Amino acid sequence: MIRTRFAPSPTGYLHVGGARTALFSWAYARKHGGKFVLRIEDTDLERSTETSVNAIIDGMKWLGLDWDEGPFRQMERLARYREVADQLLSIDKAYWCYASKDELEQMRERQRAHGVKPRYDGRWRPENAKSAGLTPPAGVNPVLRFRNPDEGAVTFIDLVKGPITVANSEIDDLVILRADGVPTYNFGVVVDDLDMNITHVIRGDDHVNNTPRQVNIFQALGAPLPQFAHAPMILGADGERLSKRHGAVSVMQYPEDGFLPEALFNYLARLGWSHGDAEKFTREQFVEWFDLAHVSKSTAQFDGAKLAWLNHQYIKEADDARLAELLAPRIERDGGKLIDGPALVEIVKLLKDRANTMENLAEAAMIFYKRIEPSKALVAEHLTPDVLPAVRELAASLERVEWQRPKLNEAVKAVVGKFGVKMPKIAMPLRVMLLGQTQTPSIDAVLELLGRDVVLARMQPYLVES
Ligand code: GLU
Repeated sequence: MIRTRFAPSPTGYLHVGGARTALFSWAYARKHGGKFVLRIEDTDLERSTETSVNAIIDGMKWLGLDWDEGPFRQMERLARYREVADQLLSIDKAYWCYASKDELEQMRERQRAHGVKPRYDGRWRPENAKSAGLTPPAGVNPVLRFRNPDEGAVTFIDLVKGPITVANSEIDDLVILRADGVPTYNFGVVVDDLDMNITHVIRGDDHVNNTPRQVNIFQALGAPLPQFAHAPMILGADGERLSKRHGAVSVMQYPEDGFLPEALFNYLARLGWSHGDAEKFTREQFVEWFDLAHVSKSTAQFDGAKLAWLNHQYIKEADDARLAELLAPRIERDGGKLIDGPALVEIVKLLKDRANTMENLAEAAMIFYKRIEPSKALVAEHLTPDVLPAVRELAASLERVEWQRPKLNEAVKAVVGKFGVKMPKIAMPLRVMLLGQTQTPSIDAVLELLGRDVVLARMQPYLVES
C-alpha cells in the first residue's frame, strides 16, 4: 500500500510552497488508494509554536487536504528516537561526541585556512579517540553522531530528478541526537518514515541534499528505502525564492483576500506539475491525473495573475448561496447593513461574473448596503434643470410599473424616447440619486434590486421644484 506524508515544521504559517508539497503527497496517496500521514516536525524547540501547528492544520483543512493518520508529533516520540539511537550505537554506527562548540569552530577555521571544506573530522570516533588518548571530559553532555560510511558512494533514484549519486567522502558524521536528547531533522525523519511505513517521500527539493545522509541511515539500520521524489522550488516573478515580498505566501491569507479554496488548490496543483495543457481542473481530475513523472524538474514560477484568473473562473461558477455566505461578513465588516439592502444572493448573481476575488465582489456589492449620499458636485453635473422634467416623468411611471427588470427597462426607455435624449442622460442622474455614484450595474437591475419604495424615496428630494 502506498503511504505518503506531509511533515511540516511548525515554525510559521502554512507557506504556499509547503501546501503545494502537501498537495502532491496527498494526491499521490489518494490516487493509489493509499494513506496520507500528517507529521509535525516540532524538534526545533525555539521556533516551534502551537499557533503554527494550528495554522498548518487550518490551511490544510481549508484546502481540503485530509489526512488519514496523525498529526503525529516528533516531540512525543523522543523515547523511540533514543531506542533507534541505541540500536545504532550497539552496532557501532553511532558514537558519542564530546567536542565543544569552540573546538568545532577551531576545527573549521583550520580547515578553511587550508582551503578545504569544513567538516567534522571524526575525532570522537571510538578508534580515533582511543589512539589520540581522548577521554570523555567531565560534565559535558555529548551529542550522538552517525558514523557515515567512509568509502564508496550513496545512490538513490529520485522519481522526479532521476538517479542521484554522492560520494561518501563528501558527507561527514552528522549529529543525530543533540545533547538534550532531541533528534536532529535527518535522524527524526528517517526513524519516522520507517516507523510510519512511508513508501514515497515527496517533498521540496530544498531537501535533496539531505537525502544521501538519510539513505545512509536507512542502510545502517538495514531498512528498506522509501522512494524519493523532490518537487521543484517555487519562485516569485523576479526569479527569487517565493517570500513575503511577492505578496501572500501564507495559505490562510488567501481566504482573507477573497480566494476560493478550489482556486488555490487548482493553482498550486499546476505549480510544478502539468497534465497536457490543462489549466483548470477539479480535485477529482487532479487525483486521477497526478503522477510523479510529470512533476517538473525545473523551478516553478508563482503567477498571481493566473491565480486571480482561476479564482475569477471559480467565482463565476460557484453556487450563489455559498458566495453570499462568504460575502456577508465582508459587507458587515465594512459597515454595510445587510438588512437595509436587497437579498445578498441577488447581488451575487448580478455581480459575480465581474469579480476576481470575494473582496472585489464585496466592494462592488457595498453600494447596495451602505447609502452613499450623492455629492453636490455629482448632483450639479447630472441633475441639470433640463433633465428634471424627464426624471419627474420617470418617477411617476415608476410608481405604477410592474416591478420586474424588463418592465423597468421599458419604463426607462419610454422616457428616453419621449424626451428625445440619449440613455445616459437619464441613467446617470438615476444612478446618482439612487446610489450616489455613476459607476453601477445596469440601471434596470439596480432599480429592481433596490425596490420601489427605496427608489422613490431616494428620487423624491430631487423632484421638487426649486
Ligand atoms: N520538516 C521538514 C520541513 O518542513 C520536512 C522535510 C521532509 O518532508 O522530509 O522542511
